[in-house]
Amino acid sequence: MAAEPLLEVKNLIKHFPITRGIIIAKKVGAVQAVDGISFHIDKGETLGLVGESGCGKSTTGRLILRLIEATSGEIRFAGRNILDLKPDQMRELRRDMQIIFQDPYASLNPRMTVGDIVGEPMEIHGIARGAEKEKRVRELLSVVGLASHHARRYPHEFSGGQRQRIGVARALAVNPKIIVCDEPVSALDVSIQAQVINLLQDLQKEFGLTYLFIAHDLSVVKHISNRVAVMYLGKLVELAEKDTLYETPLHPYTKALLSAIPIPDPALQRERIILEGDVPSPINPPTGCRFHTRCPYVMDICKQEDPAYVDVGDKHFVACHLVKSNK
Ligand code: SF4
Repeated sequence: MAAEPLLEVKNLIKHFPITRGIIIAKKVGAVQAVDGISFHIDKGETLGLVGESGCGKSTTGRLILRLIEATSGEIRFAGRNILDLKPDQMRELRRDMQIIFQDPYASLNPRMTVGDIVGEPMEIHGIARGAEKEKRVRELLSVVGLASHHARRYPHEFSGGQRQRIGVARALAVNPKIIVCDEPVSALDVSIQAQVINLLQDLQKEFGLTYLFIAHDLSVVKHISNRVAVMYLGKLVELAEKDTLYETPLHPYTKALLSAIPIPDPALQRERIILEGDVPSPINPPTGCRFHTRCPYVMDICKQEDPAYVDVGDKHFVACHLVKSNK
């Protein structure tokens, strides 16, 4: 029997209500940020989650940590639906689930020293105090490639890449099982991006970590992911093993995202698929397939019927009327 996944998300929905009226607020609509997505992540695995800005990928990461509350659905972590947990049970579980944010500067308190930033979660969760905590802070700084004397400095004294290393050390301080990496390298120079990704991979091997790695383009997640999920306007449109997704993508949106990745060899050429227009508003998404307003292969049925998210075999899932299930 296959082992239970570490994290399982079932039919997760997050609609942010839009209200009008000052004295009596009346709901007049909803932003359909996440609209019925399902996936799992196995222990020790990295699932890449990719899509354009506003597709709901960061909202998904925050829902998993319950930094925002879901409208409905299930988030099972180590066998328990965390949406059923009371605040004190959730506080305990937060130790196991950490997040690394996109902007390492904004996510670090500028008035705290690095030692206090990395040590604070240990105090909050009763893991270590005093000299023991300081020793552990020094160890963690060394693990992420910083020096122990950096503990006395403040975030503004560091470069973007170093600040992200501080963010990683803070996440590791509580020995988490899963880390949501929310665009952790998007704000960094390309040369520094590779260093931070390599660091995350090394830490994964050393500590058996599991990652949900969120990014807005497919080139960033290629190196680190085991499987990759592609999201468009609140829905998953394709999910597959990394090699399958990059070599034989089936969804037109995935193909368009892949065509935008530059090929380093000038002798090789790839036809660029240019998507017309912007991502439509999640307040009033298109009927049928949400991608139909930009899809080069749109058919009549696409405007009326939402394509089912089907299993095409070999752990490959696609939501497109051009693709038939083989189950
Ligand atoms: Fe394009 Fe239709 Fe497939 Fe949507 S369902 S991706 S519009 S072909």
